[in-house]
Amino acid sequence: MATEADILKTLEGLYGPGGAPLAGAVSGINLSGAKAFVSLSGDPSQAQAWEAARLAAERAIKAAPGIEQAVVTLTAERAPRVEAPPPPQRKGIPALEKIRFIVAVASGKGGVGKSTTSANLALGLAAQGWRVGVLDADVYGPSMPRLFGLTEKPTVEGGKLAPLEAYGLKIMSMGFLVDENIPMVWRGPMVSQAISQMLGEVVWGELDALVIDMPPGTGDVQLTIAQQVPLAGAVIVSTPQDLALIDARRAVAMFQKVEAPILGVIENMSYFLCPHCGGRSEIFAHGGARHDAEQMGVSFLGEAPLDMKIRETSDASRPVVAAEPDSPQAAVYLNLAAKVKTLLETQKRRAAPNIFVS
Ligand code: ADP
Repeated sequence: MATEADILKTLEGLYGPGGAPLAGAVSGINLSGAKAFVSLSGDPSQAQAWEAARLAAERAIKAAPGIEQAVVTLTAERAPRVEAPPPPQRKGIPALEKIRFIVAVASGKGGVGKSTTSANLALGLAAQGWRVGVLDADVYGPSMPRLFGLTEKPTVEGGKLAPLEAYGLKIMSMGFLVDENIPMVWRGPMVSQAISQMLGEVVWGELDALVIDMPPGTGDVQLTIAQQVPLAGAVIVSTPQDLALIDARRAVAMFQKVEAPILGVIENMSYFLCPHCGGRSEIFAHGGARHDAEQMGVSFLGEAPLDMKIRETSDASRPVVAAEPDSPQAAVYLNLAAKVKTLLETQKRRAAPNIFVS
């Protein structure tokens, strides 16, 4: 009976594409009586050259004593092991160094309730005794001035911007710096400068958490923020519709790419609560975000209803957690905040600024 060593011997003197000895390309030998099954692994982009080598190997093995049948198959070579690229070098941002946890609230597209979630999450974290800031980095449609009823301009202290305050939160918004009436096309070139100004030139002081209301989407501006800021985690907001979910998946992928931990996904406008009869209607086929979160292997953080009170309180510049902290609507965000706080405190610390090379 032929042995594996006999089979390898038959391949002596045979070479694969590029002149490498064929015996070295054998990735498996299976002998069953007089039958030999051999697999060769090769680069699939050289399939034709490998086919010639495969036939030669089959002939040689079949001619070996004790072998009547030889089947040689080609398998794709595993991609050469490439060392994982080093994490992007982030410059330490001194203005952010006294902040324990920086959390990005992001969405794949606009209008899904990202700012509403950011504001109420920040209020929820503050309700648990944390010192909290909100950075409204939604350069395309800053919402924090409206959500918190802030119209003043921030003052400058020692060459840095002092955040405004509302409900005990420190707040900085693109909307304080750029006139809302300036057309978007003019704002464009200001965007990157404004982002770096907001990241590097705000006196936050000591904070337990800074909630960043990200610009919607996954373009360059979002990627730049995700890369530059030592994020402790990201919360992704989505509505249950398929289209929003596709975009939410992109947002998850973007944070994974920059190796920022994803705290989880929240489904906003998950179901409609009728203010008259209290009935619940699942307008957008509730549950899609939970399902997608499971599929992507990220946590599901909860669902907020499509609810008049949430919109009215936001429009009245008193987000629901501040306006009616005991309401069931506020409870949704207080629960979200409690989960986020626990996740931040228990996850392996990766985001402390001192891990970044300055
Ligand atoms: P984004 O930041 O994603 O663009 P916003 O938070 O500004 O979205 O929300 C868009 C609009 O939808 C706002 O008018 C807001 O008040 C309203 N909204 C957001 N979430 C809810 C909700 N759960 N129920 C009712 N209205 C909501």
